[in-house]
Amino acid sequence: MASQSESPTLPDPQADATVQVVIVGAGPIGIETAIELQRRGIDSINIDRGPLGAQIFDFPPLSRWFSGPERISIGGVPLETVAQEKATREDYLAYLRSVVRQFDLAVRTFESVEEVVPVDDGFVVRTRTAGGLPRLIQTKSVVLAVGGTAKTRRLDVPGEDRSIVADTLGEPHRYFGRRVLVVGGKNSAADSAIRLWRAGAAVTISYRGDDLHPRIKYWIRPELASCIRSGLITARFGTRVLAIGPNAVTLEQLADGSQFDELVDDVLLQIGFEADGSLFEALGCELVGPNRAVLHDSSTMETSIPGIYVAGTAVNGTQGRYEVYIENAHVHAVRIAAAMIGDPPPPDPVLPELPEA
Ligand SMILES: Cc1cc2nc3c(=O)[nH]c(=O)nc-3n(C[C@H](O)[C@H](O)[C@H](O)COP(=O)(O)OP(=O)(O)OC[C@H]3O[C@@H](n4cnc5c(N)ncnc54)[C@H](O)[C@@H]3O)c2cc1C
Repeated sequence: MASQSESPTLPDPQADATVQVVIVGAGPIGIETAIELQRRGIDSINIDRGPLGAQIFDFPPLSRWFSGPERISIGGVPLETVAQEKATREDYLAYLRSVVRQFDLAVRTFESVEEVVPVDDGFVVRTRTAGGLPRLIQTKSVVLAVGGTAKTRRLDVPGEDRSIVADTLGEPHRYFGRRVLVVGGKNSAADSAIRLWRAGAAVTISYRGDDLHPRIKYWIRPELASCIRSGLITARFGTRVLAIGPNAVTLEQLADGSQFDELVDDVLLQIGFEADGSLFEALGCELVGPNRAVLHDSSTMETSIPGIYVAGTAVNGTQGRYEVYIENAHVHAVRIAAAMIGDPPPPDPVLPELPEA
């Protein structure tokens, strides 16, 4: 890290910039923060190491959001869906593109923020493009809207790196006629199991719990329970994966320690995500509790480092049980923008009384 007095050289003047606020992340809340800043006359740039809405881009094709459209719309721009249903991945990516265009936001994609360096009058943000080009941006403040799902969890068992193991569902058609072991027992695992079975895969679920997880969404759970009861999907409850071989997975029955092999062609890990706190750590921001949540002032979203703000799901670090999601993170954008112009913090939002999403 450069010292505060060192002024970094600009290796690529054409691409380097000076902007009031750099927002790391172009997910829903990073974009919403840019809108709220623009409304208060503050210019910003969003930098994302992936495409616009990278987390949503990685949803399987035609996945539906669990939250209703009114809860995930941003910046006051309505999100309409053709049949008044929950938005699909594709609906939402198109919506994000329209919102960015509507507000003419500066968004740079496939550019990774590698370091945020404090300097005399703010920060220098060091980035690298997908092509390997280093860039620098000088700024007064940085909003880290980096999400909480940077890394997919691993089992840490032998064979996990085999090519038959995936950690995102992708296109279910790929699995037609194949034996697939889905590892996990929450929403993503449940949804993937049903979609894979419909796409013509022979599906087995391995889950440590003794039954389906109680927090599986109320519209997914009965369908999966019915598929299991009818023998359309096989559930190996109370098991854990010990090893993954070329055509079989060794499972342990947790109750008695017995082991058996499950024949498989593919393994799909749906065991959750972990946050990447490295940018916060490098800056000296305090990460607290088992989630390594980011310590911040909840009225301004400023972290323990002045000028560094946190927004969106990044606030909560690695979420075992999701407590911060889009609908209760919209207010982060407004709090940050208000704080930057010295306005009092906005009142806490009253969320609409709708069935839990
Ligand atoms: C299958 C599935 C269904 C979901 N359904 C819902 C739902 O119904 N409702 C809901 O509220 N949430 C849902 N979620 C979670 C949802 O995706 C998040 O709530 C939402 O994306 C959070 O928005 P965000 O802007 O805070 O972070 P993210 O969308 O995670 O955006 C963070 C961005 O930061 C970028 N980034 C990270 N580090 C860097 C770096 N160093 N440099 C540059 N860029 C970086 C990432 O590429 C990413 O684009 C679901 C998630 C999954 C996987």
